[in-house]
Amino acid sequence: MFYLGLDFGTSGARACVINAAGGVAFEASVKYVVPQQQDTADWRAALFDLLAQIPRAQRAALAAIAVDGTSGTVLLADDALEPLAPALLYNDTRASAGTDGVPLPGSLAKGMWLMQQAGTVHARYFLHQADWLAALLTGVGGMSDYHNALKTGFDPCTLDWPAWIQALPIAQLLPRVVPPGTPLARINRHPARHFNVNPACIVRAGTTDSIAAFIATGVAQPGDAVTSLGTTLVLKLLSTTRVESVEYGVYSHRFGNLWLAGGASNSGGGVLRQFFTDAALVELSMKIHPDQPSGLDYYPLPRPGERFPVHAPALLPRLEPRPVDDVRFLHGMLEGIARIEALGYARLAELGATPLRRVISAGGGSKNEVWRHIREKQLGVPVETAQQGEAAFGAARLAQAGVKSFP
Ligand code: ADP
Repeated sequence: MFYLGLDFGTSGARACVINAAGGVAFEASVKYVVPQQQDTADWRAALFDLLAQIPRAQRAALAAIAVDGTSGTVLLADDALEPLAPALLYNDTRASAGTDGVPLPGSLAKGMWLMQQAGTVHARYFLHQADWLAALLTGVGGMSDYHNALKTGFDPCTLDWPAWIQALPIAQLLPRVVPPGTPLARINRHPARHFNVNPACIVRAGTTDSIAAFIATGVAQPGDAVTSLGTTLVLKLLSTTRVESVEYGVYSHRFGNLWLAGGASNSGGGVLRQFFTDAALVELSMKIHPDQPSGLDYYPLPRPGERFPVHAPALLPRLEPRPVDDVRFLHGMLEGIARIEALGYARLAELGATPLRRVISAGGGSKNEVWRHIREKQLGVPVETAQQGEAAFGAARLAQAGVKSFP
């Protein structure tokens, strides 16, 4: 039997098929032509394009599928799942004001804005990107998971929509929310026949792209964390307690009986890229002696302003003095970002999260061994590189393990 994960990220979509032993059997990806202008037609085309690329024998033996989508990307659809207006992407700010100046959960505000634009006569479903794509596979709309639904205001403690949301006009369009990995329905017979997919294949409730990437790493113990060293620095820590802070932009996703606490700094690989190419990063890093401190006290930022681990909207990047030697300059930056990471985990602990035990690194900077060494010293816990950090692989694991993906 095989298990399919479908990942819909910000720049394109990926498929990953794993076998019963959890090994990767097939991978494929498609890129959106203009990611900023991606819409439902692109997602639908990508979904069926990826399905068609999977080897026939694997399609015929698919046991389960799970879809992850970009968190905060939403749409309004009619009874036949046809979108009533272009989807609102995760970073679309048109709806951010809320109605009557009352701040609303981000995706809920987007939903109300879509209702104003498209009208409510034909509106049947307000869905997250992943919900809609799963619905295209099952033919059944109106279902979501508690990861995608968090930004829409779903309460992960009571596992229900808060009463005040249930009193809003949009309430009748909101999906029923189940734990990620819950079986939703069998694949609809039309796509099953067209693509020769095993007709008994089930589609499971999905998750967000960043949680799928977390699931990919296999981390499951409280105190274990995943640091994503991408354009920004994103920290995710498994905790027995739920931590929240509006000031620092910290929130927790439900993760079975645990909580996945997260915070994001504006620092990270983006600021490295302002000074160095990826090739230069590799070459200069090799010349750094990670055991000798650089003696520099940087706070690297790509532009003014920081939210986490310090709340300082006007904080200026601190990258002075700049030594003539680029090796030392980079050393100072890598140390500075490592200090921000350590401060981040300390902040999560201060807010009440389980103390840090181990860090797995993912993203573009995770392959930098010198940086791993610097970070390990700074963090005081083992730092390992993720074997797997692809969201599509995490979604495939979710398809396989279902709700057992969560402790
Ligand atoms: P994203 O998905 O957020 O765009 P990636 O995970 O692809 O980011 O990582 C890209 C980032 O990784 C870039 O900002 C780049 O500066 C950084 N990066 C690439 N190679 C290295 C390296 N050897 N050491 C440190 N950072 C690196």
